Amino acid sequence: MAIATINPATGTTVRTFPELTEAEVEQKIGVAHERWRTYRLTGFDERAECMRAAADLVEKEVDHAAQLMSTEMGKTLASAHGEALKCAHGMRYYADHAAEFLADEVLADPSQVGAERALGRYQPLGVVLAAMPWNFPMWQVMRFAAPALMAGNVGLLKHASNVPQCALYLEDVLRRGGFAEGCFQALLISSGKVEAILRDPRVVAATLTGSEPAGRSVAAICGDEVKHTVLELGGSDPFVVMPSADLDRAVATAVDARVQNNGQSCIAAKRFIVHTDIYDAFTEQFVARMRELTVGDPFDPATDVGPLATEQGRADVEELVDDAIAAGATVLCGGRRPDGAGWFYPPTIIADITRDMRIFAEEVFGPVASLYRAADIEEALEIANATTFGLGSNAWTNDKTEKERFMADLYAGQVFINGKTTSYPELPFGGVKRSGYGRELSTHGIREFCNLKTIWMG
Ligand code: NDP
Repeated sequence: MAIATINPATGTTVRTFPELTEAEVEQKIGVAHERWRTYRLTGFDERAECMRAAADLVEKEVDHAAQLMSTEMGKTLASAHGEALKCAHGMRYYADHAAEFLADEVLADPSQVGAERALGRYQPLGVVLAAMPWNFPMWQVMRFAAPALMAGNVGLLKHASNVPQCALYLEDVLRRGGFAEGCFQALLISSGKVEAILRDPRVVAATLTGSEPAGRSVAAICGDEVKHTVLELGGSDPFVVMPSADLDRAVATAVDARVQNNGQSCIAAKRFIVHTDIYDAFTEQFVARMRELTVGDPFDPATDVGPLATEQGRADVEELVDDAIAAGATVLCGGRRPDGAGWFYPPTIIADITRDMRIFAEEVFGPVASLYRAADIEEALEIANATTFGLGSNAWTNDKTEKERFMADLYAGQVFINGKTTSYPELPFGGVKRSGYGRELSTHGIREFCNLKTIWMG
């Protein structure tokens, strides 16, 4: 894939970027490694000052940052605006809390281990490679970069090939915030160049957010090299609605949860599992609201759903929908791409899905909702868990016992009751099964790329 800004609303190439040569990559790894030798010795206050200054810049430049995101991957300008501000919030969160999250864990009674003093100390690991996706082109990066830098690591970013300007902006804004050269560098390279970087002894760990094949490749290479990895892969999150739910709120949230980011979010609700007693009422409202959405130019404030980010992405969505239709599924709305330029796809709801259809098992990375009817909570849980993924999950009920069941038995990294799965700096984020492993955000995210060193003093 060429490294280029291609406007998904028109399909026109705005700007292309030459890929770094092997010598240039080698030089940047050298700069990162050299920088880490001194950066790791800086204090939390110094790092926090740079992080807050960079957050100020992101806020000041929010219009520019949003413009870059919408141009490169087609999210609506309003949501891009929100994403930039979320980055600033995450940056401040780690600037404020890193010292507390990484404080020494002192053993209260060291005599138990025959010591005068014993503790665990969090120390940075070194140069970490982050392979990041285009769907939240600034937030996905910053939720790695803010904790990693605050912990004293340095970062190399291999961003998705279709968002090079977002990558360069993030490198630049951190540099202008005061982080020294080499603390955070964007590498404009294709994925074929990642293996050599992962095998370089100066690179000690990696994190990847993206598809299962990409995650498998990075994890296999790092396994071979015995290097730590964090993987945030795909999801096919269930959204269960029970009879006691507030139907209006559940439907409104269902629409938002499915079409957010033009349907391209790993934690978007993708499978809607509705109790049979309210199935017809839910479906009627869900279809009506999905039909009301305005699909169009992401820069137009009236637009709810912009284009898909890539031509291939739209082809993948179409293939899954067409496969389901051919096998007997029912299209309740959408289901056909509009004519004209750009990679648009309408909000779509598919019902009568059977388990032999690809859409039952695979993630749909576009605004397509799969609808299932469940006879009771047992069947709802069975359908919800009948997936290889386990990222987020959503359940709507006002019944206390049912809430407990969903919290206990939804097999996922996150369970949101009467709400929409969302990432917050304050909460751990990650998955189980093929959605990946490790955690980002909260106190857990900053500790992922630390060496918890045991210190025993006699
Ligand atoms: P990819 O996994 O292909 O891309 C994500 C990042 O990984 C990009 O920077 C990409 O670079 C890089 N990459 C791809 N292959 C490799 C590899 N073998 N080794 C190292 N890095 C690699 O995602 P796509 O953009 O193709 O999206 C397709 C699917 O990925 C979606 O359907 C969805 O399932 C999943 N996805 C999940 C996301 C999440 O938030 N969990 C986000 C985005 C996608 P390059 O662009 O140069 O190929």
